[in-house]
Amino acid sequence: ERRLAENGGAGLATATPPSLDSGLDNSIDYYIKKQLRVWCGLQNGQWELGKIQSAVGGKASVTLLDGTVLTVSTGELLPANSEILDGVDNLVWLGYLNEPSVLCNLQYRYHRDVIYTMAGPVLFAINPFKDALISGSDVIMAYREKILDSPHVYVVADTAYSDMMRDGLNQSIIISGESGAGKSVTAKLAIEYLVEVGGGNSEIACRIRESGFILETFGNAKTSRNKNSSRFGKLIDINYNAQGILQGACIHTLILMFEQSRISQLNRSERSYNVFYQMCAGAPSDMRDKLNLRMASEYKFLNQSGCLKVHDVDDAHNFKKLMEAMDTLQISLGVQERIFKLLAAILWLGNISFEVTDHENHVTVVTDEASRSAARLLGCKMNDLTVALSTYRSETLMLHQAIDTRDALAKFVYTSLFSWLVETINRSLEGETEPTGRSISILDIYGFESYQKNSFEQLLINYADERLHQHFIRHLFKLEQEDYESEGIDWRKVEFVDNQGCLDLFEEKTVGILSTLDETSNDSEAASLTFFNKLKQRLSSTLSFNDEKGVFRVHHYAGEVQYDSTGFLEKNRYTLQSDTILFLSSCCKNFLTNELNLSDLDKQTVGTKFKGQVFRLIQRLETTKPHFILCIRPNAKQLQGMFEKDIVLHQLRSNGVLETLTMSKSRYHTRMSHQEFATRFGCLLSDKTRCQDSLCTSIAILQQYRVLPEMYQLGFTKIYFRADQVSVLEKLRQQVM
Ligand code: ADP
Repeated sequence: ERRLAENGGAGLATATPPSLDSGLDNSIDYYIKKQLRVWCGLQNGQWELGKIQSAVGGKASVTLLDGTVLTVSTGELLPANSEILDGVDNLVWLGYLNEPSVLCNLQYRYHRDVIYTMAGPVLFAINPFKDALISGSDVIMAYREKILDSPHVYVVADTAYSDMMRDGLNQSIIISGESGAGKSVTAKLAIEYLVEVGGGNSEIACRIRESGFILETFGNAKTSRNKNSSRFGKLIDINYNAQGILQGACIHTLILMFEQSRISQLNRSERSYNVFYQMCAGAPSDMRDKLNLRMASEYKFLNQSGCLKVHDVDDAHNFKKLMEAMDTLQISLGVQERIFKLLAAILWLGNISFEVTDHENHVTVVTDEASRSAARLLGCKMNDLTVALSTYRSETLMLHQAIDTRDALAKFVYTSLFSWLVETINRSLEGETEPTGRSISILDIYGFESYQKNSFEQLLINYADERLHQHFIRHLFKLEQEDYESEGIDWRKVEFVDNQGCLDLFEEKTVGILSTLDETSNDSEAASLTFFNKLKQRLSSTLSFNDEKGVFRVHHYAGEVQYDSTGFLEKNRYTLQSDTILFLSSCCKNFLTNELNLSDLDKQTVGTKFKGQVFRLIQRLETTKPHFILCIRPNAKQLQGMFEKDIVLHQLRSNGVLETLTMSKSRYHTRMSHQEFATRFGCLLSDKTRCQDSLCTSIAILQQYRVLPEMYQLGFTKIYFRADQVSVLEKLRQQVM
């Protein structure tokens, strides 16, 4: 049965279309007689395997594996697959596709340290939270030479590479999943394979590897869900020449801007960006002297969260690795020194304090080690810094304004530094710039986030996640079914949950969440409450609101999230005061020119800018053939060996996994125009049977070679085949050629 499933999955699928809701009603006697396994739904929502002993009047007596006998309604029973299918490589091979069968298959594999499983065209990767020892050069080699072919990130990368070479088309590998599910690690493995398979240019290969480390250092931080969480989204293009040899790479990042609050404000037990802790722990003594550097515990921007160290992470060692990586990318020592000076300046800025000078709370900057160090490291006069932090258009600021100005300055310097670093890295990775139609883009952006308290950052992250999910749905469901429909082929529509409605909520002009936010942000008098009330006025039918707490709830495809509207306006507005820009232009102009010019001209809000970037990203992906990987978090505690069924099931449900499986069981894997088909396989016909018309030739081929009717369909302009059918014809063709 298993071999049959493996070899002719598609054929089987057509013979018995999967029925997820068929239950056992009609066949209960058969199950009793043959003592076949069934899934028995328990009151706690879990499923257990058992065998039916008897059934009368809609009730069945079932013996579970542990010997317990239960009486349940027959509606609570689902067919289970036979033991022979336990742990199959591809979920599509399961005879019965129901939730307990899918879940059990994943769990079966996970407990045997098999973290990858195919789900039709999608690869599932379940985070092992331990070294699964299935990566590295030897494993890459084994997959390249097809000695290994079990599901793996390397198989997806290899397929993308082969498709690119065969069709001369750009490809993409889209990695999704919740925060902490393993996206970044998965992206790293894909890049590792793609760099290796492109062989040849080892200098570029080396730089690509090291650039990943640098970006992690500046863009990752410990959060409550993931000790090394990327706080920026990235798309990495790996470029090849026409022979498939690695030429270079280019990194596109989604702005770090909205996660810049992490520079000055930390939630409990979270950390700021890795680089700060690495520098404080690992800088050699001459650098410490130059930067007047202290331990992380002495900086307010770092010590406020009560978390300075991360278990099993050696910050000092990582700093050494960072410096080596910068050398590999040929970032000169002079430039490195300026980078570290700015980082140290940011830390000292955080320690600057203000003295209140009158009863209206007006302030001056305290002249102490913090302000002196910050001024020196920024390369400006003490007096200029003091003026920049405590006045606006010659008016003295009040305490809260001065603190905001100080924090905005620190955040701006960091964000600009990050963008500049990405540009510098890209220059170092740049190879042949001519587009060859041979590139593979790997997308790793923030996954869905939902905490007890969710703010503007989560709103944008979850919006990007919705957009990406729409891309997934479009390619796996919508485009395919539209094509079948327009070609008039016989097709039982697969229903799926479309998240377009949620996207509209965000994107709709004038009344959408983002427009409402912009409209209120543009009004400088508006406060959080104004935004909240306006949103409520416009969207009360689709969102739910709690007036007392100032929170609103959004139904995302991945779950409901409650957002706290306080601080939304300030975070969305974020424009640096013109005085501060002027100040920065005078001291860091060579380094940050681009950003300073940009922010001066470009008055867009953070939300609008972000939306624009997400749009461009999706547009870019639309020009590629997508390959999908879904990362799954097996438990909430980040522990190895723990498979929490309800947590996994939630992720499977929200990603429409059963629908994807149903779809891929019944879909047609290959399609070509009648003309293409007739031209390619016309040689299989004798001269007598060949005809002028391509449709007529196609039909003659199908008849002569007795292709089973369930293996193909004829559309108006195209012919569709089940998996493997074309390769059978291809073999015949090779014989006659
Ligand atoms: P995400 O990018 O989805 O937020 P990460 O890729 O950073 O998540 O993974 C979170 C953590 O889980 C990693 O730091 C690592 O410890 C562990 N992890 C993820 N994937 C793997 C894997 N394939 N093998 C071993 N550990 C992994």
